[in-house]
Amino acid sequence: MQRRGLSKGTLLGKCQWCTQPIKEGDSTFSSYNARIINTKWYCAECIVALKPTVDELTIEKEYTEDKLAAEQAGNLDLLSQKWIVEVGTGKIRHNPNYK
Ligand SMILES: [Zn+2]
Repeated sequence: MQRRGLSKGTLLGKCQWCTQPIKEGDSTFSSYNARIINTKWYCAECIVALKPTVDELTIEKEYTEDKLAAEQAGNLDLLSQKWIVEVGTGKIRHNPNYK
């Protein structure tokens, strides 16, 4: 995190999710890498904890957009070439053979 010229230990804010205090000069991973997102502080641990969910939703969003485009174009073959939807779980993933 960039130094702001504040004295060490100054309370910058609290993580919006876990309420951990984020202080100037705190060198812990969580505080040092804290971010302001849409005007609120989030500690690095909370942001990193979201990665699996964000990755999953990113795939879901991309698939949903491709599916809509394929339906509008009347070409579902492209969708099945690009994506694999696992039978049973419904889990969506990229087809590694799609170029
Ligand atoms: Zn947090």
